[in-house]
Amino acid sequence: MEFQFKSAYLQRVYDSVCAKNANEPEFLQAVKEVLISLEPVVARDPSIEQNGIVERIVEPERFVQFRVSWVDDNGKVQVNRGYRVQFNSAIGPYKGGLRLHPSVCASVIKFLGFEQIFKNSLTTLPMGGGKGGSDFDPKGKSDNEIMRFCQSFMTELSKHIGADTDVPAGDIGVGAREIGYLFGQYKRLRNEFTGVLTGKGLSYGGSLARTEATGYGVCYFTQEMLSCMKQDSFAGKTVVISGSGNVAIYATQKAQELGAKVVALSDSNGYVYDPNGIQLDVVKQIKEVERARISEYAKRVPGATYTEGCKNIWTVKCDIALPCATQNELDAEAADTLIKNGVICVSEGANMPCTLEATQKFLDAGVLFGPAKAANAGGVATSGLEMSQNSERLSWSFEEVDAKLKSIMINIFHNAYDASKEYGAEGNLVVGANIAGFLKVADAMKWQGVAY
Ligand code: NDP
Repeated sequence: MEFQFKSAYLQRVYDSVCAKNANEPEFLQAVKEVLISLEPVVARDPSIEQNGIVERIVEPERFVQFRVSWVDDNGKVQVNRGYRVQFNSAIGPYKGGLRLHPSVCASVIKFLGFEQIFKNSLTTLPMGGGKGGSDFDPKGKSDNEIMRFCQSFMTELSKHIGADTDVPAGDIGVGAREIGYLFGQYKRLRNEFTGVLTGKGLSYGGSLARTEATGYGVCYFTQEMLSCMKQDSFAGKTVVISGSGNVAIYATQKAQELGAKVVALSDSNGYVYDPNGIQLDVVKQIKEVERARISEYAKRVPGATYTEGCKNIWTVKCDIALPCATQNELDAEAADTLIKNGVICVSEGANMPCTLEATQKFLDAGVLFGPAKAANAGGVATSGLEMSQNSERLSWSFEEVDAKLKSIMINIFHNAYDASKEYGAEGNLVVGANIAGFLKVADAMKWQGVAY
């Protein structure tokens, strides 16, 4: 098709993925990025092709689509579409979040599930790749409507998941409230109290530090990247973070603790700029308690301004940019602006927030770049730690979980960096993370054989 691979094998696989999934641009984007990185791997190791690893890894083991009908507060029947992709179970039970957002479709779920395979492998914990969600829009819904939707969603999902089979978690639109309703319904249906979901409340099997984990993890990863590749740190840096949800809030908290000044946050309507540094307690009140819009911040904090339109957040001058909202939120034009304004480091808190063109521009300009599957793996890693605690029927302290998270993130950086070096692309962590994540899964797939 339009892209030319050096390897005829990768070309064949990519062309076939394009032909079979022609209407799934996000999925094709994610596959293309990984396959480009695998050129030196397939060139070095013919057993990858002999075992059909790449054509198997791009095809989900299972993809479930289902109707979710529920009754709104006016007594009207509503219908949404639910999904679960069980992409790869070579190294452990499927693991990956559930997203509730109107943009959810097969392409988005498959891109997220595909990415999750490599991310989970990078954590070094035994977790396969999965993802799910629905095009349900939680915005403006009452608590009761959210509860009824979650119960209906779980009524079908419960047929496909289990503590040793597939363990979902949160993602966009799915936080503590939704996980609680989902868990309650699973337990009601199955009459079993198991660690079938992560991100649970602390009173019923959740892990301390899971809420903070993705945002903290992005900062731990970025700090290590800055330290090893530039002998630098967060201290004294100006940081712009997009989004104002779970990942953005806790990335802000950790960046501030590490001595940076975070000056901007956004939601899908627009962004706030606070030259004095974002006051996180105000953001938490607005987003976590009131579930209101980020524009409220500028009404409450003197000196802060609100600008309509979320994409323009990248025009705010900064040293470090952490896109933590959603896919493809940072395009080539935004990358040019950030580079012109002197950005030294970009780490992806969200999944695939940078377009392929934007990523290439950062790499070409020598900007340190932390790809999502490495930089934001702290969330799923801590979900893995929640699974361990559930299996042990024990709870670890915040400090214990946080210390494990930090060491996992530091290891992920070094594994990705070392792989980039070994395969001739030193410092390119996109390539390094893809290769390091892939090799472990490929090895497990080879050992497990192919079913005839
Ligand atoms: P939340 O729902 O808590 O927050 C999402 C934030 O992103 C909100 O501020 C939301 O604004 C904004 N946003 C969502 N969609 C869009 C859009 N189309 N355009 C602009 N802004 C948008 O989600 P999370 O913080 O949990 O997730 C954020 C990202 O991080 C996602 O890409 C997710 O996949 C990824 N991630 C999350 C993990 C986790 O543990 N939670 C783990 C690893 C990755 P609004 O309120 O206006 O919709």
